[in-house]
Amino acid sequence: MNAILPSSTVGVFGSGQLGRMLAIEARRMGYRVMTFSPESGTPTGQIADAEICAAYEDLDAVKKFARAVDVVTFEFENVPSICAETAAQFAPVHPRGEVLHIAQNRLREKTFLRSNGFPVAEFRHIKTLEDLQNAVREIGVPAILKTAGFGYDGKGQTKINAVEDCAESFRQIKNQEAVLEAFVDYEKEVSVVAARGAAGDFAHFGAIENAHANHILDVSFAPAFVSGKTQKEAVKIARGILETLDVVGVMTVEFFLTKDGKLIVNELAPRPHNSGHLTIDACLSNQFEQQLRAVCGLPLASTALFRPAAMANLLGDLWENGEPKWARALENKNVKLHLYGKHEARCGRKMGHLTATAETTREAVEAVIKARENLTADRHT
Ligand code: AMP
Repeated sequence: MNAILPSSTVGVFGSGQLGRMLAIEARRMGYRVMTFSPESGTPTGQIADAEICAAYEDLDAVKKFARAVDVVTFEFENVPSICAETAAQFAPVHPRGEVLHIAQNRLREKTFLRSNGFPVAEFRHIKTLEDLQNAVREIGVPAILKTAGFGYDGKGQTKINAVEDCAESFRQIKNQEAVLEAFVDYEKEVSVVAARGAAGDFAHFGAIENAHANHILDVSFAPAFVSGKTQKEAVKIARGILETLDVVGVMTVEFFLTKDGKLIVNELAPRPHNSGHLTIDACLSNQFEQQLRAVCGLPLASTALFRPAAMANLLGDLWENGEPKWARALENKNVKLHLYGKHEARCGRKMGHLTATAETTREAVEAVIKARENLTADRHT
């Protein structure tokens, strides 16, 4: 692969915060950026040189976009396969469409993982209510029913506690094709954000630990509170997945860590990940620089972590009683603020994040939570 050098144009499908942070890195390194999505005035568009506003199904617009850029990557994996295939006729697309195709459907993803010997929770393919009832009898309860396509942040999933729940649960997911998955009684969730170049070079940020609230990532921190053995095993599994899929770019592997120390892969994201945002302030190079370097065929950078760090998401809910008190959150000099330029603060919408670094992971977590509380706290309480 010939390197795509600075001053070339990087095309990004999707226009949210992940594209924005990629665009910031690309701009810093002297690249031009063009984003493509059905919206305008977007978080990525505000940073990019050009913002194309068209439907992913508008293949003429996709062709025009792909002709205008030197490489195409994604910040949003749920673009239709045909869109990636069309773009690939005119520009290199990384990660390749097949990776996207697998990662955008839970059934394909889990089938890929299981058939290649990666650890996943037991699951069954569900097409009908009868399939579901049989699967619940086989797998046992509790179990989680998830739509096969287009799910994230706990959307499109429901917990089943008894065979009698099946009809209602299937109705809740609108009788769509689904996966029934055994419930994992996990101790914690960790993720590995990893990058792979076209020549097979590999880099990773180690295990990052994640805490969720209402199915949405709340706080991530690194180094994770896991043993050296677990850390190594998580990276080994992630590496195996990126190699098997021949990923060029960044891929994030989300794991459950069970109480008896076993790692189970929950999900793959063929891109940088919310849990990797702390790499911006805590590492020599961050996940977006790695994505840029990997898709442009440049050597991957060092991922060295300078200091333990923690990241807390800022959801739209924080705006409920007016503008958050930014200055108060930043009274701690080790806290950094990232806002994504979204115009409307809706409940549950990711508007930005805070990162704290400290001497220890625990102190970083405490600092970032305190800083977030300060955004809405009354000074006198
Ligand atoms: P997902 O959308 O698949 O990433 O799931 C969102 C969240 O639901 C996860 O972060 C877990 O907290 C929970 N979850 C998903 N699948 C399972 C499972 N098989 N067992 C237990 N909890 C689960």
